[in-house]
Amino acid sequence: MTPQDHLTNQHAGALEDLKTFLNIPSVSTQPERRQDVQRCADWLKTRFENAGLEHAEVIQTAMHPIVYADWLHAPGAPTVLLYGHYDVQPAADTEHWVSPPFEATVREQRIYARGASDMKGNVHAMIRAIEALLETTRSLPVNVKFLIEGEEEIASPSFPAIAKQERERFKADYCICADSLQLSEHEPMLVLSTRGVVGFELTVTGARIDLHSGLQGGVVMNPLVALARVVASFHHDDGRIAVDGFYDQVIDIPAQTRALLARTAPSEASRLEALGVPALWGEAGFSAAERSTLRPTLEPNGLWGGYQGAGNMTVIPSQAHLKVTCRIVPNQDPAHILECLRRHIEQHTPPGVTIHATYGGDTPAYHVPLEHPAHRVIAAVLRELYGRDPVPSHQGGTVPILPMLQRHLGVTSLAFGFSLPDDQYHAPNEFWRLSSFHRAPLAFVRLLEELGRLEPTNQNG
Ligand SMILES: [Zn+2]
Repeated sequence: MTPQDHLTNQHAGALEDLKTFLNIPSVSTQPERRQDVQRCADWLKTRFENAGLEHAEVIQTAMHPIVYADWLHAPGAPTVLLYGHYDVQPAADTEHWVSPPFEATVREQRIYARGASDMKGNVHAMIRAIEALLETTRSLPVNVKFLIEGEEEIASPSFPAIAKQERERFKADYCICADSLQLSEHEPMLVLSTRGVVGFELTVTGARIDLHSGLQGGVVMNPLVALARVVASFHHDDGRIAVDGFYDQVIDIPAQTRALLARTAPSEASRLEALGVPALWGEAGFSAAERSTLRPTLEPNGLWGGYQGAGNMTVIPSQAHLKVTCRIVPNQDPAHILECLRRHIEQHTPPGVTIHATYGGDTPAYHVPLEHPAHRVIAAVLRELYGRDPVPSHQGGTVPILPMLQRHLGVTSLAFGFSLPDDQYHAPNEFWRLSSFHRAPLAFVRLLEELGRLEPTNQNG
């Protein structure tokens, strides 16, 4: 029997098994779910053991455990770290769910449950792939290490400390990040880059207390005016960011990539229509597709201060506030960007007020070139599965775990997962298609077989 036959034979049982996994409400952000998160980790450990994996262990952290297991009997073959998470988003808005979020239900060829797409479906598919290979061939084409964390939805706060402590155990030649998606049910995608993020908050302070605008109006700099000036100073009229040094480390978008984006991204007309804005806006010289993926941005996310109730209040507020995040691109150093911002704000603080800035939340961008040997393998496997070439894609969003795995374990991660953009993750009625449920384990079997043909890198010691 082939691993593929085994997967087909086991479908009904595997679906029930996935439902059991989905029915554990492993919501990492809610303290009252702590026991459920632990129960889910324990369930995974047993599931790993039943699949034939070894050294399965629930590794406790400062908050939610990481579940580890391995199979290391393929001498000379690469070691592949399989990354995923078993925690899920909350589902407090139960009135919007057609079936309860933690009672997995199949209808319309979909499995509905919180975490079905993000990402228990993908984690379960990896386990089924390993199980099918071990059941039918008694072996694996590569050495495998599972690292399934329970804090992804809360930004993996315990991960750096555990990665440091377990660096030897987690060491691998390649990491496959299954917390990822394809373009559509019929179109595969290759994720080449994700943007990073840096953020800051400003508090502009004028007088010690709010002032009467009749008594003191025209006498002091209004913190709201001062803040508006600072905000206006961030961009030139043509949309370029006016912060000195901000673009220093940005790499030009290769002509080939620009051509690809022009061919594959939604048209500006359709974007305009979808967004309902009178016009698009942004950095001159770049298309909307480029601006939203491979160019850095600076966006105020919140701005407030002064009286906001009904009617008038004749006040000069003591303070005004601003929150900003910048998306940064490959090769931009978050520390350099924060330094440029600090200088800019200092230079653009109008006289008559003080500005207090707090900086934080820096995640670098992530980029793996198309030519990377593991990318070539992934592209070939996707081509075989879908009957068409994967679309190379640059993501505008941030996936903190990718640079984190690089930074703390020194391993290159490649995205390979089977969620789809319309799976309603983080929203009511999250689902995973049965087509993804069937396809994903087959894909992981083929991926591991093909990765087995690669040379181990020197990262594995
Ligand atoms: Zn996820």
